[in-house]
Amino acid sequence: MKIHLRQIPLDGLHLEGEEDSKMLDLQGASAGPIRYALDVGVSGSSVFATGRLEVDLELECVACLEKFPYPLRVESFAMQEEVGGSETVDLTPCLREDILLALPAHPHCDWNGDKKCSGVQRENPEPAPLPQMSMIWEELDKLNVKKKN
Ligand SMILES: [Zn+2]
Repeated sequence: MKIHLRQIPLDGLHLEGEEDSKMLDLQGASAGPIRYALDVGVSGSSVFATGRLEVDLELECVACLEKFPYPLRVESFAMQEEVGGSETVDLTPCLREDILLALPAHPHCDWNGDKKCSGVQRENPEPAPLPQMSMIWEELDKLNVKKKN
């Protein structure tokens, strides 16, 4: 996603559109196009951009291995890059980095509560079963027997 510096007016440039998500180089996950809404400006010898990024992904749950849709959102993308005599600036590496940072490291299909994961949930172990009432009475009976003797 290259921008020609001459295309950026003094009061900045608003960019909206889509980029092919091939640039993310995702392994084992499929992704729709990257939608972006960015404000680009020049400050001294550097170019800066702020805005938001969206990409709809299909990730694999680490617990049940099922694929599930995951709408990734980067709400406050921000980058700044020294131009140093170049006439163009390439935003791609920064876009890629911010999206990859926002990816969940251990995706769970029940992340938003819409679905119940059928896999093992190590984070929420089953509570230990309460002792049965009959067992408690048995213990009390034993105590009574000891007292009588
Ligand atoms: Zn799952």
